[in-house]
Amino acid sequence: MPQYDYDLFVIGAGSGGVRAANWASSLGVMVAIAERREIGGTCVNVGCVPKKLFVYASRFQDEFAAAAEFGWTLEKPTFNWASLIANKNQEIERLHAAYTNRLQKSGVSIIKGDANVIDAHTISVDGVSYSAERILIATGGWPFVPDIPGKQHIVTSNQMFFLEQLPKRIVIVGGGYIAVEFAGILHGLGVETTICHRGHKLLSGFDEDVRDFLAEEMAKNGIKLLFNTDIEAIEKLDDAFDIKFSDGSKISTDLVLYATGRTPHSTGFGLEKLGVEVDNEQAIKVNSNYQTNIPSIYALGDVTNRINLTPVAIAEGMALVDKLYGNHLKPVDYDNIPTAVFSQPSIGTVGLTETQACEKYPDIDIYKTSFTPLKIPFPVRLKKP
Ligand SMILES: Cc1cc2nc3c(=O)[nH]c(=O)nc-3n(C[C@H](O)[C@H](O)[C@H](O)COP(=O)(O)OP(=O)(O)OC[C@H]3O[C@@H](n4cnc5c(N)ncnc54)[C@H](O)[C@@H]3O)c2cc1C
Repeated sequence: MPQYDYDLFVIGAGSGGVRAANWASSLGVMVAIAERREIGGTCVNVGCVPKKLFVYASRFQDEFAAAAEFGWTLEKPTFNWASLIANKNQEIERLHAAYTNRLQKSGVSIIKGDANVIDAHTISVDGVSYSAERILIATGGWPFVPDIPGKQHIVTSNQMFFLEQLPKRIVIVGGGYIAVEFAGILHGLGVETTICHRGHKLLSGFDEDVRDFLAEEMAKNGIKLLFNTDIEAIEKLDDAFDIKFSDGSKISTDLVLYATGRTPHSTGFGLEKLGVEVDNEQAIKVNSNYQTNIPSIYALGDVTNRINLTPVAIAEGMALVDKLYGNHLKPVDYDNIPTAVFSQPSIGTVGLTETQACEKYPDIDIYKTSFTPLKIPFPVRLKKP
């Protein structure tokens, strides 16, 4: 019987990896976790958590504007980007400490550095080799930016959380949830915001009514929406950028954010040499037990590109560990996963869209209703019939 340093070696201390490591360790499994950046992965460092803090910050402007109508008297409020960033960083540091503490208490060995898979049972981290009976790849994804002239001038969601200055104007390229969430954040913080999207509507895959409603509300709020736009190049000027479209038109801006999807992070750390199979979007292929074509190597979370959400990566981590070392509880149910989009207004969905329901069931009734929020400014309310 071969002797290994660890029973389970997890690569990537994000949502899925951390949960799998903690859970396995609590079941008496010898676990190590390698992380090359910060503990907590995308969600904690450059995803859900800082994004939500930014969303909260961006909502105060409307609250201040409405406050007087509800009886409050305020001095003219001012906003300081540097202090938002500093406080956000402090909260993330608190989470790093909490995650690290939890892993250490569970008995997981934390190995900081770049992990490379050498063979089916060997991993090297910054030159030090470790052996493991099983290897779990939980390496997440990375922003995808298409190859266009001027690509070097853009930022992705990763940099948005560390900008030194808030721009006066921004163009956000993309129409997915990350694009609309950042549009709401920046607009709320007083930035002149434009979305450029090559599709004809925002939020592909969502219910058509929701897509239309959100676009109308965003436009009403003052966010400029440009659909069916194809960007040809980004040119750097002295203190701004020009975006050139394929029809020859141009717009000028201070910052260009590309939110054009994410690619599974499956290359560059040894899996190709081992022959771990990926699909044509570089997602690692796994069976229903998260096992790759190399029996001792498993993968879950965004690197498998199924439903790229933190609670899904966490559920997969628990299901895998339970299958390997626990009581074989229920597998993850990928149907009816609720989704929230922190756009302004925000969106919540669960289950099939109307289009999917119509395709699946021949005879369905459709009900739709809309509500007027009670909390609207009094002048608007008084004008309503
Ligand atoms: C802007 C943004 C907002 C989001 N908002 C939400 C939200 O509101 N709700 C939600 O549910 N989801 C949200 N997500 C998605 C969520 O963050 C991901 O689904 C989740 O983090 C995936 O977890 P994971 O464990 O698969 O990978 P990750 O959390 O990405 O972790 C992967 C880790 O692996 C590490 N790694 C990679 N390669 C190596 C290597 N060779 N050696 C060592 N370490 C390595 C990385 O540094 C990283 O820390 C958001 C994502 C983004 C980008």
